[in-house]
Amino acid sequence: MNVPPFSLGEQLLELGEALDQAVLEVLRSGQYIGGAATADFEAAFAAACGVPHAVGCNSGTDALVLALRGLGIGPGDEVITTSFSFFATAEAISAVGATPVFVDVREGSYLIDLDQLEAAITPATRALLPVHLFGRPVDMERVCAIAERHGLRVIEDCAQATGARWAGRPVGSWGDAGCFSFFPTKNLGGAGDGGAVTCRDPELARRVRELAVHGMPRRYLHTSLGYNSRLDAIQAAVLAVKLPHLPRWLECRRDLALRYSQQLAGLPGLQLPDPGPEGHSWNQYVLRVTSAVGAAHSPRDQLKQQLQDAGVNTIIYYPIPIHRQPAYADLGYGPGSLPVTERLCGEVLSLPIFPELGEARQQRVIEVLHSLVPAAQPLAA
Ligand SMILES: *Cc1c(COP(=O)(O)O)cnc(C)c1O
Repeated sequence: MNVPPFSLGEQLLELGEALDQAVLEVLRSGQYIGGAATADFEAAFAAACGVPHAVGCNSGTDALVLALRGLGIGPGDEVITTSFSFFATAEAISAVGATPVFVDVREGSYLIDLDQLEAAITPATRALLPVHLFGRPVDMERVCAIAERHGLRVIEDCAQATGARWAGRPVGSWGDAGCFSFFPTKNLGGAGDGGAVTCRDPELARRVRELAVHGMPRRYLHTSLGYNSRLDAIQAAVLAVKLPHLPRWLECRRDLALRYSQQLAGLPGLQLPDPGPEGHSWNQYVLRVTSAVGAAHSPRDQLKQQLQDAGVNTIIYYPIPIHRQPAYADLGYGPGSLPVTERLCGEVLSLPIFPELGEARQQRVIEVLHSLVPAAQPLAA
């Protein structure tokens, strides 16, 4: 039995007719950019996120760029975020001319360390950009309280956390703006690229919408330098069909995560993810294969290879922290500057988790891990 890390076609099959029909309708309508399909999805998505406004765009990366620009963040400004994330989080900050400032993460949650955050604030700091990594929500009450104390904006990177909640309230509804990705492997994935910015402020929504269409408030009048970043009507139609199924898919993810945690508990050398308080959306199930001190090889890489040989395909999110990427060499974060992030990058391993995984395939992953981990143990000891 081969177990993939994700399997996008299966969701498509499950939705069958409804999806075919929605896509065909757009094709036949001749309205491929904007129009009712996009507006309807934006309204439905805003409602699902508990905010009055959602603006569709090209990608999660663009959502971050548009939110930063919409909030007036640019050259000379510092934005505090985490280095343990997908590269786009920092890339978007740099794309608007601002400087990403990285704070280390907590070992247990993998999330930005809020105890260290305030020390990173300088007179140039304009915004906090927490990442709800792997679908686990950051403590947004604390983030918002810190932002309020220092007069800072809050932009949530919700790319991996569509449907996640902090204190019962959806992510993307806490900060000034929430940035979502509809990349196919995210919790709500389209049939291609897509993204959205959520917000409460109608003025910000208007600015983001304008920036996404060449800074053009009305046809051929350009009041700012913007982008071509729209959510295609076909993607909006696909997402509108999928959105009502999201709560059920999140339930599947939670059940799968719970079963992994129960069945893998106590295996030596494996550290299972801390689920945190309620509201985790489990875009990824990321455990740690703890390194042997001074070991010549990585127990994580070895286990990954052994799993692959047994037909279980895993992914490493992320092997290199953002602050150690060649593209950010000029920021001057040397080795050891963010020790927890760096250690995690050498230890993390993501097991297959997607709503359609099912019991049989998950059981296979669990069995293979049970058969491998005792054997790998002398290396990890
Ligand atoms: C996927 C992702 C993004 C970027 O989203 P795209 O739609 O791929 O551009 C940004 N931040 C995080 C944390 C992500 O996982």
